[in-house]
Amino acid sequence: MGRHRILILGGTTEARQLADRLKGRVDCDVLLSLAGRTAEPMAQPVPVRSGGFGGAEGLAHFLRSNNFDLLIDATHPFAARISANAAIAARQTGIAAFALRRPAWERQACDRWTSVSTMADAVRALGMTSRNVFLAIGRQEAFQFEQAPQHHYLVRSVDPVTPQLKLPQARYILAAGPFDRADERRLLEDNHIDVIVAKNSGGSAIYGKIAAARDLGIEVVMVERQEAADLQSVGTLADALDRIDHLLSPEMKRGV
Ligand code: NAP
Repeated sequence: MGRHRILILGGTTEARQLADRLKGRVDCDVLLSLAGRTAEPMAQPVPVRSGGFGGAEGLAHFLRSNNFDLLIDATHPFAARISANAAIAARQTGIAAFALRRPAWERQACDRWTSVSTMADAVRALGMTSRNVFLAIGRQEAFQFEQAPQHHYLVRSVDPVTPQLKLPQARYILAAGPFDRADERRLLEDNHIDVIVAKNSGGSAIYGKIAAARDLGIEVVMVERQEAADLQSVGTLADALDRIDHLLSPEMKRGV
């Protein structure tokens, strides 16, 4: 019997967990794809390839030429370009596809969120008066805060922000989640943070800062998600495994 070939677009905890659940299956060959941006990527439970495909066309070509049966977009909810490419490539190739996307966080009573749509709006939402800002959005878009040099910034990212920001008052921490609520609370208190900028990423691994902000009554400027790409999506690992079983049922798979 042939094995189903599955390409997972990853770079998230969910992608790693899904790969882990699939790795022992005798009916599947799984390849996990990473963008290749992280200097020291975490170990993965299945074979990995790394680097861009060259747009939607490149991804479609990769899917066809490697005989994939299923594409799973398990990238970060803010990785909009690769998700759009995945949707186009799935349409072009006719290969089955879906997205595994963790649900967004929802505002709780006592949360002080200022919800914005873009990072530029987040910069403006900080206002003109100098504040102590915890910038917890990753490194790629941190440069946008150079537009607001009046604030003091504590910038956290997995890899260094390079080049360093043209900001007179910025300090940097390198750290990868998961982050515990009590530790996050201590970090906010020790650094006298009065506003956090975060992306509404969802999931539990980095929710600690949101819960800690609630505990301390600190404002969160929350960058909300844009409309998701044109792929059907599931929100949990269990639903993803069900979807895989359904999509790879013998009648759907060529020659199996
Ligand atoms: P993006 O803007 O959507 O993608 C930019 C380009 O990077 C894509 O067009 C693609 O290049 C390549 N790429 C992205 N993800 C890839 C993957 N899994 N495998 C192969 N190529 C990939 O993505 P991003 O926001 O820069 O995020 C990059 C990676 O970091 C993603 O895999 C994502 O899951 C992870 N991540 C992102 C965030 C975030 O906040 N954005 C947070 C945590 C983790 P080509 O067009 O050449 O194929």
